[in-house]
Amino acid sequence: MRGLPRFPAGEVWLVGAGPGDAGLLTLHAVNALEQADVVVHDALVSADVLGFARRGAELVFLGKRGGKPSPKQPEITKRLIDYARAGKRVLRLKGGDPFVFGRGAEEALDLVAANVPFRVIPGITAGIGGLAYAGVPVTSRDVNASVIFLTGHDKHGLLPDTVDWAATAKAGMIVMYMAMRNMDKIAAKLIAAGRPSGDPVTVVSNATLPDMQVIDTTLERAAKDIAASGIAAPAIVSIGRGNLLREKLNWRGV
Ligand code: SAH
Repeated sequence: MRGLPRFPAGEVWLVGAGPGDAGLLTLHAVNALEQADVVVHDALVSADVLGFARRGAELVFLGKRGGKPSPKQPEITKRLIDYARAGKRVLRLKGGDPFVFGRGAEEALDLVAANVPFRVIPGITAGIGGLAYAGVPVTSRDVNASVIFLTGHDKHGLLPDTVDWAATAKAGMIVMYMAMRNMDKIAAKLIAAGRPSGDPVTVVSNATLPDMQVIDTTLERAAKDIAASGIAAPAIVSIGRGNLLREKLNWRGV
């Protein structure tokens, strides 16, 4: 693509695919897809996005499927390193942004340790772009001056024990990734830390995709409403008054 970098053989490019809608790919991402020999992607990368891969490129799925545990990180990086050493142009494609709750940093550190040259191409993260598709701005001057991004579970599926709930409860907007399973515990922690139980909560699943679903609830009712609605992962959960702007800004009508 004009003015965009050539993809040298033997390099690994860590690329963000955005939340799903292929229109949210960056020019750098498309430029990479048009040159890569191997595209190693996870489950969050949509079929539309993969459709931009060069014809003849090898598509390799490495991620969680059917509730089975995801491949171990060393296994993934070993594959990336092996492809690079075999002289391939290796595109590691991740949902959203590679450095936001996507283990991109771990993969990049492994590439550094293995002396494999790499580049990082940021993507639109679900916690910003996905919410925008539901008409939820993560900041708005009259509503909130701060936003915090949080993961709802650690590598064991548990609530991360490093979260400072008192500080989190004070953020103007709380945006949570992977939060559905632990929503009851998260709500209890936040309410105990002083967040109002009636604070508006919006849950956006499959954000930006044709099957996007949204539910509006409150902190107190969120876990029950999520269970009752049957809304499925992947979903972003936002907590805060900014969600109320959705009433007027829901341009997609979902
Ligand atoms: N790197 C990704 C996040 C990976 S963690 C990013 O920047 O967006 C996986 C979590 O991301 C999911 O559990 C979900 O909380 C969120 N997520 C990713 N894609 C999503 C989508 N299309 N809709 C809603 N949530 C999404």
